[in-house]
Amino acid sequence: MKHKVLIMRCDDYDPARIAGIVRKGMEELGVKPHGKTLLKPNCVIAEPLLFPHAATRKELLEGVIMAMKEKGDAIEELAVGERSGISIPNRFCFSRSGYEDVIARHGVKPYHFDETRDVPVRLKGDHRLRDSISVPKPVADCDFFVNLPKLKAHPWTRVTASLKNLIGIQDDRYRLVDHNSLLEHKIADLQEVVTPGLIVVDSIEAGQKMMLTPTPFKIGAIVIGTNSCAVDTVCCHMIHVDPRDVVHLRYASERGFGPMNLDEIDVAGDFPIEEVRTKSEGFELFMEHIEDYFNGKGNITCKVGTFPETHSSDYYWGGCPGALQESIHIFKMYFPDVLQRIQKVRYVVGKVEGPLNLAPDEKVIFAGDCTSWEGEIDGEHVKIESSYKTASQVDLKRMPSTDMIVRILSPLFQCFFNSKRYIHAKGCPLSVAAHVNYMSSLGKIKNVNFDTRTIMPVSIAYLQMRAHRFYNRSFG
Ligand code: SF4
Repeated sequence: MKHKVLIMRCDDYDPARIAGIVRKGMEELGVKPHGKTLLKPNCVIAEPLLFPHAATRKELLEGVIMAMKEKGDAIEELAVGERSGISIPNRFCFSRSGYEDVIARHGVKPYHFDETRDVPVRLKGDHRLRDSISVPKPVADCDFFVNLPKLKAHPWTRVTASLKNLIGIQDDRYRLVDHNSLLEHKIADLQEVVTPGLIVVDSIEAGQKMMLTPTPFKIGAIVIGTNSCAVDTVCCHMIHVDPRDVVHLRYASERGFGPMNLDEIDVAGDFPIEEVRTKSEGFELFMEHIEDYFNGKGNITCKVGTFPETHSSDYYWGGCPGALQESIHIFKMYFPDVLQRIQKVRYVVGKVEGPLNLAPDEKVIFAGDCTSWEGEIDGEHVKIESSYKTASQVDLKRMPSTDMIVRILSPLFQCFFNSKRYIHAKGCPLSVAAHVNYMSSLGKIKNVNFDTRTIMPVSIAYLQMRAHRFYNRSFG
């Protein structure tokens, strides 16, 4: 039997209308939520002024909750869970996205995955990276998982929809493990952890180019299905992407999680895919090599070498290069002229050979564990050595701290006490948040982590998160 995927017209974010569409979709797909039902939106970051388009919209979440309640006489617990990204406490993002109000209004249980207990889930797939993955207990315990991604372009993986939304079922301690050139493998691994009973994709307004700071693109559709590969394949076609170019979709399909060929999918609904494709003409992706993106455009110049994993030795779309792009796009939200405003920085990543030919006032960041270089800077012999570890060498019990405060302060301290004009910023990957801190220190540009509009609510959410996490993980 072919997997069925519905593309439904929906022009606006009206919860009642969305509820009706989802209810009809559930009937057509024969879906019956039951037991512990967990809704997982994409709330990687949410802030109405600065990051208005990154998350699944609250109205879509509310519409799905309403549909679940109408169709869910077998539901024992209806919950919404997520772990937002870049170390920001999930509470902050639930509050700023409006989820908190929706959750309270409908009496639904919130799960902040950065506060819950983690449990290991064993993996058995032939091409798995690891034998087990730690996930929040509510994910491991749920009977019916509802995946609510937002359809967006992604600078590391080309597209993010249903498959990639599972990155958010990991707390920070595990989220960044294999979040490098192995990211696509990891996304495929995560499909083994939980199988969605229902997928509802927010593509009313899709996101172009970036994942944290996308530019909106009105498609006016809701995509509904039950198989992540089938749904993502349809989503790819909707925005003119060849599914074979989305590596995690290819891996997941090859591992047997579903089809990636439109002929093997029953595409239905009231919005024909050809009409959607006409509407999405001009939808912009963002897969730009950092040397092409930065060099000659301003004061950041990149030097990219070779990389350790043979499947992707010439460039890593994920990992540090992508994190640099995301961080600069965050700065752009504050300073559109950031590439001119920032002081000169040379960004070196990978195994680089030969002189850097630095300008007299240019700082250097050697980014990430895999980076190596040897040469002269200011008459001093400098040797940067790689400390890259393969997936099997990474010891999950000895991971560096992922605490938000540590992540903010340690780069700042490293830069403050550094008297040289170069620095080796360690991490694999060096996260987006770390890039923000290093680039602000080296480039002498305001650190957006200290924005007065967000610093207090983020700090309060951080303290609440620490208290709840301590309680849940000690006594929960
Ligand atoms: S340190 Fe190297 S291998 Fe690791 S994420 Fe960065 S670029 Fe990729």
